[in-house]
Amino acid sequence: MTTQRLQTTDPNHAHDVSLEGTFDFVNTYDLENTYDVDKGFAVDRLPTLEAALAWFVERGVIHYEGAERWREQTTAEPSAGAEELARIHAVRAALREVVDSIAEERAPDPAALDTVNRALHARQVIELIPAWDGVSVDHRHVGDPIDDALARLADPLVRELTGGHPERIRICDNDRCRWVFYDTSRTGRRRWCDMATCGNRAKAARHRARAKAGEAGESGEAGESGQAREADTAPNTSATTESSTPLSN
Ligand SMILES: [Zn+2]
Repeated sequence: MTTQRLQTTDPNHAHDVSLEGTFDFVNTYDLENTYDVDKGFAVDRLPTLEAALAWFVERGVIHYEGAERWREQTTAEPSAGAEELARIHAVRAALREVVDSIAEERAPDPAALDTVNRALHARQVIELIPAWDGVSVDHRHVGDPIDDALARLADPLVRELTGGHPERIRICDNDRCRWVFYDTSRTGRRRWCDMATCGNRAKAARHRARAKAGEAGESGEAGESGQAREADTAPNTSATTESSTPLSN
C-alpha cells in the first residue's frame, strides 16, 4: 500500500489523500478480519490515540511534530487524549455511515452527515497558488493538527462526489465483512472486497446450501469432514489455503 506524504510545494498538493486513503481510514475499524471471518469479532486498528497518531503520521495527514505535540499533551493530561480519540472514532464512524449510504443508495443519518461536515469545515482556506503554467487553486487546513488530519481524510469523498464516480463505491457483500472499496472492475459489478476470501466464502456457502438441499437425507450436520469435503468441491476454493477450513453456519 502506498503512503501519501504531505507535499506542500507540489502545486497539486490539495489532494494529499486519495479516496483509497479515506477508505483505509474507515476500514481501520475492521468489522471482521476477513481471514478470521468465521470467528466473528471486530478489530479496531486505532484503539488508542497513540495508534491513531502513528497511523496519521504514516499516511502523511499529520506532521510528525504535530503528533509529538499531542503525545506530550496527552501524557500530561490523559483525559484530553481520551477526548481526542473519541473525536477521531466519531468522525470515522460518521464517514462509514456516509460511505454506506452512498453505496447503498439511501439517505444518510443526518447526525453522521453533520459530523463529517464539521470535520470538512475544519478551518479550510481556499487560496491561489502559482503553477508552472499560471495559477491554480489550492486549499489548506489550518489549526489543530487532528482536525486538519480528519478534514484531509474526509476530503477525497467530496472530490469523488463532485467529479468522480461515487457509484463505484462499494461495501463488501459479505455482511460480516462490509469492507469499503472502490470498484475498478471493467464491468463495475464487483461485490466482494476480495474474491479469495469473501467471494469464495459466498460461493462455498451457496454450494453448501445446494449440496445440503440435494442431500437432505444424508444428515446436513455431517460435521467437519462433510463440510470440508463440500468446501473442497466448491468453485475456486482450491485457490486458497482457507478452502480446506470448515466453514461455520
Ligand atoms: Zn469482504
